Amino acid sequence: MKILIKKVSLLKDHQIIPEVNILIKDDIIDYVGSEIPKEYDYEIDGKEKLAMPGLVNAHTHLAMTLFRGFADDLPLREWLETKIWPHEAKLREEDVYWGSLLGALEMIKGGTIAFADMYFYMDKVAEVVEESGLRGNLSWGMIATLGDENKSLENSLKFAERWHNSCNGRILVSLAPHAPYTCPPSFLEKVIDKAVQYNLSIHTHLSETEEEVREIKEKYGETPVRLMDKIGLFNVSTISAHCVFVDSEEIEILARKKVGVVHNPQSNLKLASGIAPIKEMVDKGVKVGLGTDGPSSNNNLDMWEEIRLSAILHKGYKKDPTAIPASLALEMATKRGMEILGWKNSGIIEPGKKADLILVDLKKPHFFPRFNLISHLVYSANSSDVDTVIVDGKILMEKREVKTLDEEKILYETEKRAFLLVEKE
Ligand SMILES: [Zn+2]
Repeated sequence: MKILIKKVSLLKDHQIIPEVNILIKDDIIDYVGSEIPKEYDYEIDGKEKLAMPGLVNAHTHLAMTLFRGFADDLPLREWLETKIWPHEAKLREEDVYWGSLLGALEMIKGGTIAFADMYFYMDKVAEVVEESGLRGNLSWGMIATLGDENKSLENSLKFAERWHNSCNGRILVSLAPHAPYTCPPSFLEKVIDKAVQYNLSIHTHLSETEEEVREIKEKYGETPVRLMDKIGLFNVSTISAHCVFVDSEEIEILARKKVGVVHNPQSNLKLASGIAPIKEMVDKGVKVGLGTDGPSSNNNLDMWEEIRLSAILHKGYKKDPTAIPASLALEMATKRGMEILGWKNSGIIEPGKKADLILVDLKKPHFFPRFNLISHLVYSANSSDVDTVIVDGKILMEKREVKTLDEEKILYETEKRAFLLVEKE
């Protein structure tokens, strides 16, 4: 199957190139240039559209869409312990399936093409990735304080055997010890051994709150990042969500060990955790991607909001208008996110790369005058500007119509299931 995107504006290397033709052959970008290829099976008119790499949500808990708006404005631990965890305990496989479908639908409609998900009943999330056409780095969250950690590790490994590198590489599997405060070093060491043995990445929460840092220091005499370094976690490719409380020495560790840090500015603000020192991390060479975190602490899966927030939050926080420039915020949500999640052949539109891209509708009042489209994408764009989504060479949405999922059915089912879950109190 050959798809031609004709005369489209292209975002590449922090520049906008006008009137470019893109030819997709199966799952790969075959040609990008000014000539119009003659042989193709399907044509997309690129007039008034911008082609750019799809967005990457590098940390979320997708099925938490079911708890969106159910419990807000509470401190993290209270929110988890009194509201989220007791209700999550009632979730069944089918709830996770439908909640994840709702998340997948929201992501496609907002131009997000890849995500890292940590949750449970992950086979259902894998089915959603398979059906929706998205890319998913999936991991079964493991909480050792529940007492069945060895079983959950075994379960994670079986899940990896079933799904890692499946769907033409659209599904990757990671091992996910939830956090240092729910997984002691003795268990983390087992996880690290298995990650090495099975060649898997690790996805975890790290240094999210001051309370976590205090607790870990009291228990083990080290801060979370130093403790993780000491036990060898960073010798494995790691996706570390948050890293809000890290000092300059810890930032150097994260850079040296090539840890993928995922900045979730909206979730950190909403849960009043704090502001991660992202400017310092980027300056010291830490790999930083962006994420929404779960849609009940955000409360959506809109990566445009995370891009904009990353670009403005650190300016105000550092009192420096040059902190996190627009093009860097975009790169964190695209190419850098893809690298952190393990898809190194994506995140840029050029021949030989994976055909993973979105088309943004430029004919919107908030994109005029067109002085600087990169600036508009960061400071002015929103989810509903995304017109077309292509992942692995397949059209998932065209002219805002999602092709792979049944939108009406998903909205109906998730509304019904979410209310039933909450009523079971
Ligand atoms: Zn999280």
